[in-house]
Amino acid sequence: MQRIVVLAGGIGGARFLRGLKSAVPDADITVIGNTGDDIHLFGLKVCPDLDTVMYTLGGGIHEEQGWGRAGETFAVKEELAAYGVGPEWFGLGDRDFATHIVRTQMLAAGYPLSAVTEALCARWQPGVRLLPMTDDRVETHVLVDLEGARKAVHFQEYWVRLRAEVPAHAIVPVGAEEAKPAPGVLEALAAADVILFPPSNPVVSVGSILSVPGIREAVAAADAPVVGLSPIVGGSPVRGMADKVLAAVGVESTAAAVARHYGSDLLDGWLVDTVDAQAVAEVEAAGIRCRAVPLMMTDTDATAKMAAEALALAGEVRA
Ligand code: GDP
Ligand code: CA
Repeated sequence: MQRIVVLAGGIGGARFLRGLKSAVPDADITVIGNTGDDIHLFGLKVCPDLDTVMYTLGGGIHEEQGWGRAGETFAVKEELAAYGVGPEWFGLGDRDFATHIVRTQMLAAGYPLSAVTEALCARWQPGVRLLPMTDDRVETHVLVDLEGARKAVHFQEYWVRLRAEVPAHAIVPVGAEEAKPAPGVLEALAAADVILFPPSNPVVSVGSILSVPGIREAVAAADAPVVGLSPIVGGSPVRGMADKVLAAVGVESTAAAVARHYGSDLLDGWLVDTVDAQAVAEVEAAGIRCRAVPLMMTDTDATAKMAAEALALAGEVRA
């Protein structure tokens, strides 16, 4: 059985995984999920990217929105607001609240996040092994200019409240230096037949995962070919504001620049969209095998074709 390891953020990672499962239903898939977006709200531990993967693969996602639960209601949020308790800018629905309550209760009882995630997945049956990148607390902060001062804000405040509209100067995964990969992460990378970077955010999703000491090294040292898919198509992110965080780390918003940012020490192969076919030569000049194929995840079939192309490229670079 083919062992595939995917380093995933939220929406881009989750949608890609759905296509991957459809392309290779019998593969053994391990997902290393980003937890740098995690935030404590109302005393609860919220893990947006892990939940997006779990809900998407488990059939509970709000399809159009891409995050949160389908058929959601917001009574708890409204009641909290009536007490003047916020933040009002982070949308937690009633169904979603239950997930965070269960998670927080288990963490308080002493279970590590990896065990809690496994317990939550027992309900959702995502059909992949979902591992947090670490059981330790890592929180991405963004250095911004706000109200005349330079200050660090939580990633969610930058992304959701400020909509990435204020200048960002640095992205800091606070706590990463002391964090250890969660149990199973390094073992999965070492045993992988293929490692994939889905079209997730290269800075605050895949970048945060790689910032946990040992993970970048394990990807670089793995026997398996490493193939990524560009989240940047035609010079801008397909969705969201990845261009803003790329700028903050000095990387241009092009498919080729993102490949060079990961570099040939990590990547063996890179897929760009057909509209970026002119980037292939530049990526190959950087020592990374590159192909231009359609990269729009419009539906599961289109996404499955992308996954199949990534696996084909992995086979080619291995040969
Ligand atoms: P987040 O944690 O929810 O922000 O999700 P990820 O980090 O997993 O993915 C976000 C990235 O997915 C964005 O930078 C988007 O450009 C990218 N993305 C979303 N939809 C598509 C798509 O259909 N095709 C490609 N190539 N990228 C996409
Ligand atoms: Ca995210």
